[in-house]
Amino acid sequence: MPNLENKIWFDGKLVPATAAQVNVLTHALHYGSAVFEGEQVYSGRIFKLAEHTERLFYSAGRLGMKVAFDGQALERATRDVVAANRVGNGYVRPLVWRGSETIAVSAPNTTIHVMIAAWDTLPPYDKEACAMGIRMKTSDWVRPPPNVAPTDAKAAGLYVTSTLAKHAAEDAGYDDALMLDYRGQVAEATLANIFLVIDRALHTPIPDCFLNGITRQTVIELADELGIPVVERVVFPRDFERATEVFVTGTAAEVTPVREIDDFRFESRDVTELIIGAFESLTGKGRAVPEPVETMK
Ligand code: PMP
Repeated sequence: MPNLENKIWFDGKLVPATAAQVNVLTHALHYGSAVFEGEQVYSGRIFKLAEHTERLFYSAGRLGMKVAFDGQALERATRDVVAANRVGNGYVRPLVWRGSETIAVSAPNTTIHVMIAAWDTLPPYDKEACAMGIRMKTSDWVRPPPNVAPTDAKAAGLYVTSTLAKHAAEDAGYDDALMLDYRGQVAEATLANIFLVIDRALHTPIPDCFLNGITRQTVIELADELGIPVVERVVFPRDFERATEVFVTGTAAEVTPVREIDDFRFESRDVTELIIGAFESLTGKGRAVPEPVETMK
């Protein structure tokens, strides 16, 4: 996590973390009017920065928030904050939120703030669990229909159920929760998308009520290049019976094998390893960090 010496880019300026403060009457804090991103830095380069920045603007727009900076300015700011904190391999967290001018729910004229923080990688799953494959338990919490919440946005409010589901799974001794959707279809993990390997093809749910992850899209492209068929379709929990491998994908999760979901066990890793290999060559994971920290143009 950022320590107090870290620099945070806050509404246009790099400031010490201690100076990046908000008012307790901030609309976002009361009503969840915030959107965010998670980005990975590999050897000083921010992976898919343009795509993440674009999604940040999209999510902000879905919540009716107009960001006072353009995409280029935010990309520059992201590179600056990574360089200022000398993050070689790490994580970036941009956040856009509605300010504190009113405590009313209706707040169309509040200031829209932006901050970008960066720090060393914080793996979402236990390292050992990742190597062995994570264990998941189906949550009672479900992903809502798209007319109940802006499910295609990376909106802070949606993470209320992610946190509840994740806590319940961890309390029961699992690494993560499998989340179904409001129709009982398989949706995703709490912070990652999901893929099943059936007859050496990838099967993944259609993202019509959850985030179409940038890693998910990357994995689909990589599978295509590897000649591995990809089927985007409705997936039901019973489909796990035919799956020999399962993995989850996300910016922080990267490509993480799953070894267990409820009573289902997945022993094989063949296809997952191919995808992990292709993903790591794309991100450059494990390559030496250049000195001084290089930023991507
Ligand atoms: N679903 C949810 C709920 C997430 O929080 C994330 C992480 N951003 C993902 C899926 C995967 O998205 P991405 O690959 O873009 O990180």
